[in-house]
Amino acid sequence: MNILETIDLKKYYGSEPNITRALDGVSLTIAAGEFVAIVGTSGSGKSTLLNMIAGVYPLDSGVIELDGTDISRLSESQRAKYLGRVFQDPMRGTAADMQIAENLALAKRRGQRRGLSWGVTKAEKDEYVELLKRLDLGLDTRLNAKVGLLSGGQRQALTLLMATLTKPRLLLLDEHTAALDPKTASKVLNLTEEIVDENHLTTLMVTHNMNDAIRLGNRLIMMHEGHV
Ligand code: ADP
Ligand code: MG
Repeated sequence: MNILETIDLKKYYGSEPNITRALDGVSLTIAAGEFVAIVGTSGSGKSTLLNMIAGVYPLDSGVIELDGTDISRLSESQRAKYLGRVFQDPMRGTAADMQIAENLALAKRRGQRRGLSWGVTKAEKDEYVELLKRLDLGLDTRLNAKVGLLSGGQRQALTLLMATLTKPRLLLLDEHTAALDPKTASKVLNLTEEIVDENHLTTLMVTHNMNDAIRLGNRLIMMHEGHV
């Protein structure tokens, strides 16, 4: 069964003579359970591909199907119900002026109407403590701390938990350990592997680290000048 199919995706920036062909006809099929690692030089279109899948910007042309349904015209927030995302920048992905527990609760209620109006329940807090314990970053005792007080690595690990809390159909990781120190990067990468395995997530991970790509990925894609 295919989770994702992209057909001839094109995204150009600027206009002639200064046109950038960020994606120049990308067709990809990703089956359920695959862990696809994407490598390629800087500027080859890796982030653009993930942004197009997530609906951050509109496509120039092409079709994106998720579970056999055309999602090309859906908004970013409509697609967010099915996708988990972690970016390179630890400042994105979490709300700095909200508590750790509130961030997790928001992620858990993704796609639901109720939001945080009913508060975070005791049962939820217990669940979050267990989740945070396994990060081994000292966050399980800081449920009420504002996320803005955390280090980049702690925030990135939290973002990963949030992105996978409701088992997305597809997990998108864009150099999500690149901004971290080596020790924390390795922790977050191990956690990624564990969460993906446990939940049988289908994953698309951009990385500039070939070792990470080979260790975690069961398929490797190289991008160059907007092509696979
Ligand atoms: P990668 O992630 O592989 O480093 P990107 O997808 O970020 O590459 O970028 C591909 C090309 O598109 C680059 O030349 C980049 O400068 C250009 N680009 C990306 N986003 C934009 C944008 N919002 N506006 C203009 N040019 C962009
Ligand atoms: Mg990039």
